[in-house]
Amino acid sequence: HGTTPPNFIKNIITEDLKSGKVNKVITRFPPEPNGYLHIGHAKAIWVNFTLADEFGGRTNLRFDDTNPLKEDVEYVNSIKEDVKWLGFEWEELHFASDYFEEMYNRAVLLIKKGKAYVDDQTAEQIRETRGTLTEPGSNSAFRERSVEENLDLFTRMRAGEFKNGEKVLRAKIDMTSPNINLRDPVIYRISHAKHHNTGDAWCIYPMYAFAHPLEDAIEGVTHSLCTIEFEDQRPFYDWVIAETEMSAEPHQYEFGRLNVETMVTSKRKLKLLVDEGYVDGWDDPRMPTISGLRRRGYTPEAIKNFVFEAGISKAQGTVDLAMLEHFIREDLKMKAPRTMAVLDPLKVVITNYPEGQSEMLEAENNSENPEMGNREIPFSREIYIEREDFMENPPSKYFRLFPGNEVRLKHAYFIKCNDVIKDAEGNVVEIHCTYDPETKSGTGFTGRKVKGTIHWVDAASAVPAEFRLYEPLISSADEEEELDGEETAKVEAKTFLDQVNPNSLEIVKGFVEPELAEAKPHDKFQFFRHGYFNVDPKVSKPGAPVFNRIVSLKSSFQL
Ligand code: ATP
Ligand code: MG
Ligand code: MG
Repeated sequence: HGTTPPNFIKNIITEDLKSGKVNKVITRFPPEPNGYLHIGHAKAIWVNFTLADEFGGRTNLRFDDTNPLKEDVEYVNSIKEDVKWLGFEWEELHFASDYFEEMYNRAVLLIKKGKAYVDDQTAEQIRETRGTLTEPGSNSAFRERSVEENLDLFTRMRAGEFKNGEKVLRAKIDMTSPNINLRDPVIYRISHAKHHNTGDAWCIYPMYAFAHPLEDAIEGVTHSLCTIEFEDQRPFYDWVIAETEMSAEPHQYEFGRLNVETMVTSKRKLKLLVDEGYVDGWDDPRMPTISGLRRRGYTPEAIKNFVFEAGISKAQGTVDLAMLEHFIREDLKMKAPRTMAVLDPLKVVITNYPEGQSEMLEAENNSENPEMGNREIPFSREIYIEREDFMENPPSKYFRLFPGNEVRLKHAYFIKCNDVIKDAEGNVVEIHCTYDPETKSGTGFTGRKVKGTIHWVDAASAVPAEFRLYEPLISSADEEEELDGEETAKVEAKTFLDQVNPNSLEIVKGFVEPELAEAKPHDKFQFFRHGYFNVDPKVSKPGAPVFNRIVSLKSSFQL
């Protein structure tokens, strides 16, 4: 999709262009480099890039790096990689930290205009005097400091004369405003910390709510698109643009977050999963990160079709995971070769097949896409089938292999079960069958019919492989609503670890067709009955392939 479906932001942009309020649409995707991007960010990326593009506009990638404690170049690099992988090209690459000097000057301007003051209250005192939804806040004792004193103190804050938390700079607006965000919000704080980009140049940092509108204005962003939790921040956004006398006038518009059933979309919680060792890094195939989805085997097309379907509106709901799975099946249906893998092997000896002999059988690569051609697969006296495809005492309606029954081997022959070999404990270890050469696949044999078809691999040439099967990491993910910089949810994040599914990863060992020995990272296959799989880019080795199950074949999802 090169466009977005009909939506309210598109209507606004159309109007803005028509009225001449805007000549060229400029948007930005503004991640904070404090973690890897997740499926929710894929929506924000798609919204920003696609909306600008469909109006001939452009989109910047901007790192909102105003909090040195949490940010890192590792995150910067992963974010760039993920945006590119999704197929988007940014026009300009910026770091909010490149604007620190300009932001500082705008803060000084506010002080000079009597619109900002240095407050000595602690963070706790500031929180306590902020009031509530029903009660107004109260003025700080430091609110009436003179412009000269404020300028002096702010200069000394920058010079490093004070410790963390000793002073802050606050906008001077209205402590009785019905909108709590306008009750003299903090706009600068002291943080003696090394910044990934500016190093030790600064020990004061702008707060997100002050920095963001300035970043947008500096870059000439016309439509600043963000998620709905920022709605109450919009009046302050507009206040900053007006009072700092920026020449450009960006406007903020909010759309609903994307929440996906069982997927955690809080970077803080995802980081906890990584830090506490619940997963093998940010790109663990169970993670709802872009890198995790990529390693799992999702494609950019599937992700983009998914966010398109989820749409752009103000409504926030939780989308079924089944919808995301639907789009990866759709994308791989015609592209992925369909081959045979046995995940839980049971040996079958075909007693009437000559020992030491083998043959090559012709198999189509994708029954729905003849363009994918054919391959040859070896067949000989011993094969592996799926353990669940044999039952000694089957219930009625079981059409697979059981003593006396005949089934079709996919791409090969009919075989009939004659004997069951057991070990001392009575476990079935081997099945003895006979095959009928007349029934060879592709020869048009119609002599008799069988009800079951099962898959198999040739024991002599099959390649041992590892399969990683997944269940959701979290049984049900809460919708995320916290604002940036809010630390109140910290405790809640810890208890969320209790919801981690201990059975989210199952590793099984089996066999694949010999061709797959040399499968390359990110090669994708449909294994009959088991679903779609991706060759793991980290642990798979030539000769010892490892396959991540992207999704099973079954689907109850209807568009
Ligand atoms: P955190 O979990 O640390 O609060 P964040 O979700 O705020 O992270 P940012 O890096 O600030 O992450 O997000 C960049 C952009 O992505 C923002 O504009 C944000 O609104 C958007 N975004 C984040 N999560 C979602 C989501 N679930 N759905 C849609 N957009 C999202
Ligand atoms: Mg954020
Ligand atoms: Mg956030």
